[in-house]
Amino acid sequence: MQEKHWKENTMEAPEKQLFGTNGVRGIIGEQMNPELVMKIGMVLGTMRKGRIGVGRDTRTSGPALSRAIIAGLLATGCDVVDLGVLPTPAVQYLVREHFDAGAVITASHNPPEYNGVKIIEGDGTEMDDTQTICLEGHLFAKEFTLAGWESMGTLSAAPEMIHEYITAVAGYWKDIDADGMTVVADPGSGPACESTPQVLTKMGCHVVTINGMMDGTFPGRMPEPSPEGLQPLSELVRNTGAAFGVAHDGDADRAVFVDETGEYLEENEQFALVERFICSETPGIVVTPVSTSFLAERIAEETGSVVDYTRVGSISVARRMIALAEEGKTVVFGGEGNGGLILPGNQHCRDGAMTAATMVALLKSSGKTLSELRTTLPPHVMLKDKIHTDSPHELLKNAKTAFSGDTLDLTDGVRINRQGMWALLRPSGTEPFMRLYVEAETEKEAEAFRDEITRVISP
Ligand code: MG
Repeated sequence: MQEKHWKENTMEAPEKQLFGTNGVRGIIGEQMNPELVMKIGMVLGTMRKGRIGVGRDTRTSGPALSRAIIAGLLATGCDVVDLGVLPTPAVQYLVREHFDAGAVITASHNPPEYNGVKIIEGDGTEMDDTQTICLEGHLFAKEFTLAGWESMGTLSAAPEMIHEYITAVAGYWKDIDADGMTVVADPGSGPACESTPQVLTKMGCHVVTINGMMDGTFPGRMPEPSPEGLQPLSELVRNTGAAFGVAHDGDADRAVFVDETGEYLEENEQFALVERFICSETPGIVVTPVSTSFLAERIAEETGSVVDYTRVGSISVARRMIALAEEGKTVVFGGEGNGGLILPGNQHCRDGAMTAATMVALLKSSGKTLSELRTTLPPHVMLKDKIHTDSPHELLKNAKTAFSGDTLDLTDGVRINRQGMWALLRPSGTEPFMRLYVEAETEKEAEAFRDEITRVISP
């Protein structure tokens, strides 16, 4: 029996009511409407005085909601710069460089009928749970301070500022010349239709695009870059002889890939390949949530690096990376196993264009094709299940007791670590079910472990 070891919650988040993992979202005309967004603007303007950058994605409700948040911010005396339509990481970059805070009108990967708000702090990271709960509190209590006529905020537009971001990302791998490498970009009619092709072109790629016109009806595919929706991308990659295809979610903070044969690269494999590329150059700390594949640890061992686990959500990862760096630690890479990668030398947030640029650098440095690189990864099978339950906390308690002989990690839900395999039980934040992730080296082992867990916790 393994030694009992519980890693107690060190980053337990209090409950948010309106905002989710990455901002507030809802169906336009129902939960999400200009009135709510204007009030968020008034509260944000009261909490964060100064110059605020506002951007949006391509959704049809974007112009209405962006003007609503701008109205709220101006009314509290903030000066607002309207950055127009641009990726969330572009807003984050520009806020860190030039503004006191920011807001992005986006529903990320959600379908077209959704929209929402992501709040950006002055350091370019998304607002954390504590501040978000504070913002919600003011919102529910209608606590905001409106300015008088003599201290109204001023409004200006600066859609050209995105070029500063494009130049920074394209120049990150300055020793890499893509030398005419063909790349197919699928921005999914989202806000990176111009920026990602420009970044890749500046790096020396020959860029072909699909779904490359901004369009909030998303005529080519849904904002979530699913393997099914990326079939036309795969076909175009094969037909053009491209080195890879890259696709973004609806606000381009994530990037996913298909290899030169058109095969979808699973996001945890993507994480591992980029991790190996980064950590082979500079070993250090890799920060990722407890839901990420054990590939992250295998690559860390291989390169003399270590993995530091956080709660699920990119905000936890970004803040942990910053905190470790402030302690003087060498934090080289981070992100989630869903295509949301963080290159700390660029900025502490997920960045789709930066991830695409890194794929170019990785392929150029390795001299191998993407399909060849994927075969170098250790064997791994991950199963994802949902367990329907009205009492998720009861189930978690059962799991803690039943698996107390195993090594448990309680950073977020219950993670059971065993030799060559692990499982994570984590309640859904919004719905009555529990997520179950199981990973092992073979399908048979993964299924057996999953069956053991479901048998024990819900007999
Ligand atoms: Mg997103």
